[in-house]
Amino acid sequence: MAEIELKRCPCCYGTAEFVEDFDDHGRFVAVACTRCGMGSGKHYPLMDDARPNAANEWNRRPDLDMTVLVDGVMDLFPGADRQALTCLAQLAEKAVRRG
Ligand SMILES: [Zn+2]
Repeated sequence: MAEIELKRCPCCYGTAEFVEDFDDHGRFVAVACTRCGMGSGKHYPLMDDARPNAANEWNRRPDLDMTVLVDGVMDLFPGADRQALTCLAQLAEKAVRRG
């Protein structure tokens, strides 16, 4: 099967991986962040591979978009300095993506 791409964690930007485990309902597959442990819901395979479903749930979040963030702050504080905000947002993005 082709490799399924998993987006990075929306909380800490860590890498994500598939995890398999068992509970009272049987074997399940989920996607979990390797850094902070945030995870998708549990997906129980019937006859099929549950990984695509778990990946779809995990990947449905929009990518981090600093432009939207800056626009949001500008809406709240119309007098704010857009250039400074953009610079701050870019620094924050770099800091988050490190490691
Ligand atoms: Zn995380």
